[in-house]
Amino acid sequence: EKTLVWFRRDLRSVDHAALHHALAQSRQVYCVFIFDRAILDALPRADRRVEFIHASLLELAQALRALGGGLIVQHAWAETAIPELAIELGVDAVFANHDYEPQAITRDAHVAAALQAAGRSLHTFKDQVVFEKNEVLTQAEKPFSVFTPYKNAWLKKLYAESNEATLRPYEIDAYADRFVNLPESKFPIPSLTDLGFEKTNLPDLNIPTGMQGAQDLLDAFADRMQRYDQTRDFPALKGPSYLSVHVRFGTVSIRALARRALDAMRTGTGGNGAAVWLSELVWRDFYFMILFQHPHVVDHAFKADYDAITWESGDHARRLFQAWCDGQTGYPLVDAAMAQLNQTGYMHNRLRMVTASFLIKDLGIDWRWGEHYFAEKLNDFDLAANNGGWQWASSSGCDAQPYFRIFNPITQSEKFDQQGKFIRRYLPQLAKLSDRHIHAPWCAPALELRMAGVEIGNNYPGPLVQHDEARARTLQRYAVVKKVA
Ligand code: FAD
Repeated sequence: EKTLVWFRRDLRSVDHAALHHALAQSRQVYCVFIFDRAILDALPRADRRVEFIHASLLELAQALRALGGGLIVQHAWAETAIPELAIELGVDAVFANHDYEPQAITRDAHVAAALQAAGRSLHTFKDQVVFEKNEVLTQAEKPFSVFTPYKNAWLKKLYAESNEATLRPYEIDAYADRFVNLPESKFPIPSLTDLGFEKTNLPDLNIPTGMQGAQDLLDAFADRMQRYDQTRDFPALKGPSYLSVHVRFGTVSIRALARRALDAMRTGTGGNGAAVWLSELVWRDFYFMILFQHPHVVDHAFKADYDAITWESGDHARRLFQAWCDGQTGYPLVDAAMAQLNQTGYMHNRLRMVTASFLIKDLGIDWRWGEHYFAEKLNDFDLAANNGGWQWASSSGCDAQPYFRIFNPITQSEKFDQQGKFIRRYLPQLAKLSDRHIHAPWCAPALELRMAGVEIGNNYPGPLVQHDEARARTLQRYAVVKKVA
């Protein structure tokens, strides 16, 4: 048997489900990655993610060559390129890992049909989550729509199955003699320019790429994990793992992350942090499950009645939205967060909640606009988690925050960036304001503003809306939901 392993969002040569099964079941294994034009053609010409993937692929190809194999990399339409390549190489089957996004499911169905028509088959495996699809259900065998009981059932299942089995790494090295050698000279990797992309500032951001980059981040985080519960909400602190872009592109396996958390919990070195961090990994599984079970969430509110809300529209809405995108709302925490996103492609989780809430509940803009902006900018953009996060903020999601809970952007700033350290990092023009006034510069005395060199309306905008008025408008806007509920 000859098999072709199709890498997608799993750019690693260790603990890889599809690769393991292919090696275990066949005599000869080829590996391929397609820069899919169905995805790439729609992207801006400078995109940190394409550069991240490109750098990670160079490492992956090298690692596969070290095992005796190699990687075929093409710039093509995956839907047709995969069946064509399967025929050209004469393989019996294509192996890949499950993808839960509706468009990917359709793509995979087309690939499977084309392969079948050519007398071949597509086999897919669970790899990017710990538990998928229907694996964690309520007692009535229905999908969960509330997180905490889902998490309890998730943990129970993990322990019942003995987490050693569920989280055991997939063996690769033992089968190394089954790789078909694909020398670089015959299978060169296209350059960024060949792909039609320009260099970004990714190399300047100290975001390490590839499996080695993920390992370095994970090792560094292991020392911080036990305090994660205390540090995770403060954007000026090095609290979280910064692994999301790696989890997104699979340069590290989710099982490796869960094992780290569980080991720390078991040995008592994890403090409270390890369990809280594990919960975040469960949230990730939860949102993949929601997307799989309820694909309508892609364009619609999870709770259908929330689609009846009337959002701001026309030029007025576009102006508000643009100010938010550009970090020009006059609310420093929101603007600093948007600057972080625009400059680095990352945004701290607390700030994702604050900026999303501000767009929806202070500016009255449809959450889908914000979701699309994040989708374009986030290095770690993942349809399931991004949609889940936005629907949480707009109160339209499963287990979302209630619609009448409206973050106050000033008190959030005072609470989570008390000394304005994060704000000062991204808005240097406000750096000289006092801790007291940096959260709402327009309230600072004229003398302080002058001494700090801040000119409201000149080098920093005044507030785009008044929070109290915006809050009242939002409660009115959401009244339509209350009536239906
Ligand atoms: P850590 O705190 O170290 O968490 C570890 C890992 O757990 C993360 O890498 C991620 O894979 C997962 N995780 C953590 N929190 C969540 C969560 N709430 N939901 C799902 N998974 C989670 N996360 C994305 O990966 N992609 C997105 O596109 C995305 N969009 C978001 C949009 C909004 C509006 C909100 C509120 C949250 C979003 N998140 C998204 C979740 C979360 O903000 C990021 O996963 C986190 O900030 C990534 O940083 P980290 O790797 O340092 O996280």
